[in-house]
Amino acid sequence: MSLIEKLSPEFRQRCEVIATEQRSLLGVRAFEALPADTLAAKLGAKLFTPDQVPNLEAEQITLLLASDEWSAAIISYSPLWIVCNPRHALTRRESNLMHEIAHLLLKHQPVGFDTVTGQPKRQQNNEDEATFLGGCLQIPKRGLLWATQRKMLLPEIAVHFGASEAMVQFRSNVTGVPI
Ligand SMILES: [Zn+2]
Repeated sequence: MSLIEKLSPEFRQRCEVIATEQRSLLGVRAFEALPADTLAAKLGAKLFTPDQVPNLEAEQITLLLASDEWSAAIISYSPLWIVCNPRHALTRRESNLMHEIAHLLLKHQPVGFDTVTGQPKRQQNNEDEATFLGGCLQIPKRGLLWATQRKMLLPEIAVHFGASEAMVQFRSNVTGVPI
């Protein structure tokens, strides 16, 4: 089942509203790029790479720094600390970070850490919701409409919003805005 089939139209609409609200709080308009770092800073998040996390064991730092298998994770809620995988491309980091921010905005409850891998456990429905909202935060539907009205091509839209081309395609698919 695709993401769009798993999430109700009401939920998807709510995500567009949340994305609009967050932008207006920052004075960022729908057609402007919203860097994940800007939103993270506004939410009071401190961002880390594994080697910067206080009190993390050297062995775990080495494992995390060598792995592509994880993207980003909220490691503390108060204070709000998010660790990001520095191995990923900048555009991927944007979507990783927006995904974690989406978990926060949707008030998902933490589900704890896997004691074997040391990585956060996941609840699929929460993951789907965060992925969807993360995309809205990066490229709101109205922003995508603006770009297509200006006849921007997919790669240009990606650069404009600091997103990957895959994200632009995803947003086109789920919003029905043709590009
Ligand atoms: Zn997640």
